[in-house]
Amino acid sequence: MSIKVEQVKKTYVTGEVKTHALRGIDLKIKEGELVVILGPSGSGKSTLLNVISGLDTVTEGTIRVNNQEITSYNEKKLTSFRRNKLGFIFQSYNLLPNLTTYENVEVGEYLSKSPLSINDILNQVGLKSEKNKFPYQMSGGQQQRVSIARAVVKNPSILFCDEPTGSLDEDTGKQVLKVLQDLNNELGTTIIIVTHNIAIKDIADRVIKMRSGEIDEIITNDQKIDAK
Ligand code: ADP
Ligand code: ADP
Repeated sequence: MSIKVEQVKKTYVTGEVKTHALRGIDLKIKEGELVVILGPSGSGKSTLLNVISGLDTVTEGTIRVNNQEITSYNEKKLTSFRRNKLGFIFQSYNLLPNLTTYENVEVGEYLSKSPLSINDILNQVGLKSEKNKFPYQMSGGQQQRVSIARAVVKNPSILFCDEPTGSLDEDTGKQVLKVLQDLNNELGTTIIIVTHNIAIKDIADRVIKMRSGEIDEIITNDQKIDAK
């Protein structure tokens, strides 16, 4: 799904304090692109991800996803858009502790319209032998791969990842990035990754650098490398 962000501003008001988290963002993302949003803490990365994914509202401006203006949707329409079309991965894996790998992925499948096979997805993220394990029996990287499988089983059109490797060591982080890159290649899922880990930029089609609520620079990655 393509995304078009026009003149988007987001201001948080806390008592007397106003924070201009986004100061006028213009951005287009093509269907099937893998985009990495980089920038220091507080530069507006999470806010941008939250407004594009309809988790939060904009203060000004419009966001279109496949030519549908989601910034005019009401809460009910937004919820169904998120549920049917979008997948989310966070730094904390947010798995249900009393469910196995298979069951956690089943939760993701539950409300969606076009589910893929849970076993196929578990194979794809390399968790075939872990399917009956509980989260506490697995490493951080394995748990993050469960959360990816849970997000992907409903075949989302866009996958949003907020610091997906934030809790992982370098090698495990690389394995998780490889899984994301394979999904992008094989399913054509549009992927947006927010991070302050500059190592992630190597797997991106484009890198968007944020600073103080604005886009500082957009870099097209001609030397995109395959994660190993
Ligand atoms: P990043 O993801 O790059 O670290 P954020 O988008 O989280 O940046 O934050 C951008 C700015 O907006 C920061 O100054 C942050 O403190 C502020 N901010 C984010 N969320 C809220 C909120 N819910 N209420 C008030 N201020 C917020
Ligand atoms: P991250 O940027 O890694 O997602 P944060 O700690 O910045 O994590 O934000 C966690 C949550 O707290 C987010 O939902 C964000 O909107 C909110 N938040 C961030 N900064 C503020 C703030 N200054 N005031 C209130 N809420 C905030």
